[in-house]
Amino acid sequence: LRRAVRHCIQHEPLLVATLAGVAVGIVLGVGLSFANLSPLALEIIGLPGDLLMRTLKMLVLPLITASVMAGVCALRQSTADMGKVARYTLLYYFTTTMGAVVLGIVIVNIIKPGRGSPFDQFDVGEGSCHAANQQKVASHTSSAGQHSSPVEAFLGVIKSAFPDNIFQAAATMNVLGIITVSLLMGAALSSMGAEAGPMVSLINIFNDAIGKIVNWVIWTSPIGIASLIITSICRACNLGATLVALGLFILAVLLGLLLWGFIVLPAVYYLTTRRNPGQVYKGFSQAMATAFGTDSSNATLPITMRSAITMGCDPRIVQFFLPLGTTVNMNGTALYEAVTVIFIAQAHGVVLGAAGTVIVALTATLAAVGAAGIPSAGLVTMLMVLQAVELEQFAGDIAIILAVDWFLDRCRTVVNVLGDSFGTVIIDHHARKWVAPVAVESRS
Ligand code: ASP
Repeated sequence: LRRAVRHCIQHEPLLVATLAGVAVGIVLGVGLSFANLSPLALEIIGLPGDLLMRTLKMLVLPLITASVMAGVCALRQSTADMGKVARYTLLYYFTTTMGAVVLGIVIVNIIKPGRGSPFDQFDVGEGSCHAANQQKVASHTSSAGQHSSPVEAFLGVIKSAFPDNIFQAAATMNVLGIITVSLLMGAALSSMGAEAGPMVSLINIFNDAIGKIVNWVIWTSPIGIASLIITSICRACNLGATLVALGLFILAVLLGLLLWGFIVLPAVYYLTTRRNPGQVYKGFSQAMATAFGTDSSNATLPITMRSAITMGCDPRIVQFFLPLGTTVNMNGTALYEAVTVIFIAQAHGVVLGAAGTVIVALTATLAAVGAAGIPSAGLVTMLMVLQAVELEQFAGDIAIILAVDWFLDRCRTVVNVLGDSFGTVIIDHHARKWVAPVAVESRS
């Protein structure tokens, strides 16, 4: 065993450091949560985590812009084949998101975590922890409330893909909008041929420079990940009581996420490529740990892209599809939305029936597409699913779920990132048959 550990430390020092960061974060977080630390002490402990989040978020905008433009320019010689890649990618996103929702629905109907009305035990009176959460939910949802019906939400997603102001799209991190602008710019540059050569080289150089910064950030990430986990455990409220009352719900969510991320996705990978899925977990382990630490698939994107390129995926596929997948392909979030809404219905004795369940399945898929890859975004878009099945009067329950969301969100973010990672390697595997191999230097 000692030899194996030494081998790992020598050959995978970053992976070992990251896993150690997660473990230290959990142990210290649980230990310190009994110490009742002051807000200032928590702020100091949380500083490395804060800095990691800020740096990753800072990188996302230039990374998406440069990589999507560079990806489109590199594709100019094989545009026809890429259409096929795009179709299969969208098919993958849609079927896996729907599949995750169906799995969630099956599990929540078997476990029935809502039996016994667990929400009755919570004091949501003024001054309680859950009342504070309720206020947080209200402030989060006032902006999301504009698109509360499913059709409005769908129209909202389409509109956000076509921003009327580039700077506003960048400042508000409208990822879909940024992707559209970059796609258009990339397409325009490629249509200009040799004339656009210097600009394309500039974009490629810029892209490589961002890759270098990502590399530096990755080496400091274990400390940031530990710090993020410690502070979120210490800030969680009524940890013990909530865990007991919501135990079955947490179990249903975790079981669904585990089955999806560690049984279904690898099975899909094996069946479509005949390759060992273990390699994918190994290749994307850094991205998974970062997703767990940062709670955001957007913030993890730089690491996910680097992992895919290091694994040997075609940079054109990675640059083109991972930014899109990060925003629209959220298997974990979709599963979570379905499980939670059915759980809330069960907890109030509401029977949704077949029609209601189908509506939950469709709107949960849409809500996951509409959710941004940022912490707790899934909880906000959940209002739309609740509204679709006329359960909006129970929206206040989200405040109770918020008490455990800091943990469940991390787990579903890992599955979101896993869904994108498996998608990229599957599409990359098949794209080799469809897309002419154009020499594009690796940007690892
Ligand atoms: N935190 C998730 C992500 O970034 C989104 C969510 O489900 O809240 O992927």
